[in-house]
Amino acid sequence: MQQLGLEGMPTRLFSCTPSRLTSWLDCPRRYRMTYLDRPPLQKGPAWAHNTVGAVAHLALARWWDLPEERRTGPAARGLLERAWQTDGFSDDEQAHRWKGFAGDMVERYADGLDPAEDPVGIERTVAFKTDTLAVSGRVDRVDRRGDELVVVDYKTGRSALTEDDARGSLALALYALACARTLRTPCTKVELHHLPSGKVLAWEHTPETLARHVRRAEAIATEAAAAKEELDEGGPADELFPPRPSSLCGWCDFSRHCPEGLAASGGPNKPWAGLAEERAPLDEVS
Ligand code: SF4
Repeated sequence: MQQLGLEGMPTRLFSCTPSRLTSWLDCPRRYRMTYLDRPPLQKGPAWAHNTVGAVAHLALARWWDLPEERRTGPAARGLLERAWQTDGFSDDEQAHRWKGFAGDMVERYADGLDPAEDPVGIERTVAFKTDTLAVSGRVDRVDRRGDELVVVDYKTGRSALTEDDARGSLALALYALACARTLRTPCTKVELHHLPSGKVLAWEHTPETLARHVRRAEAIATEAAAAKEELDEGGPADELFPPRPSSLCGWCDFSRHCPEGLAASGGPNKPWAGLAEERAPLDEVS
């Protein structure tokens, strides 16, 4: 495995977001297509479930800009409706129905918030460095609880989450470190807030578990940087960045450029397939 810097020279930092690192883990070819190929390859169409997620995030971010007395559940629904987009939906009727579901979701979630508890950060950019890494990213929400900060990440997908998702998330661990560094306040707790179900999956890191995540991040960065270096020297792209076909290929933005992924998935999913129509009534989501 190559080092990021030459001996005796200052180490070249690998700049990344947490999602760049996890993209390498998921599929090196997708990593290359997303971050390295220039000019960029054409992506597939927008996903309706991403539209729902983006608009819900936006509404909840703007909710905190309202005066405290106007921070209500219905206000969150109003913000979502004003920001609504239709990208990825099959037709107007489906988009309209999902505006209603998403409105229910943010209204119910905002109803459970304390409007007087202003977060320390909303969509806050945070960063930290190690000897080999420069990590930065944007956190959905940073709360202060007592003398500590808590990383809050909103999830709007249909998959049920467990505490293991919070514990094992490389991104959340790196965000905790970045919050602590940027905001100069201890931060070891991370939370996934699953908006469809209202569940909160929390995990409290220790210095050891955070250090393990950093070592993992550094190892990923070393691999990705070495592959890029060999690519720049004329190395074979498909060997340095091999495809990793899986059940996720149907959701890959670049599957149209990837024969192995197309074979594995049988073709891209419909842009609205992630909406889980069969589970649409939010009250039935576990
Ligand atoms: S379709 Fe699958 S194998 Fe191909 S780039 Fe995307 S994730 Fe990787």
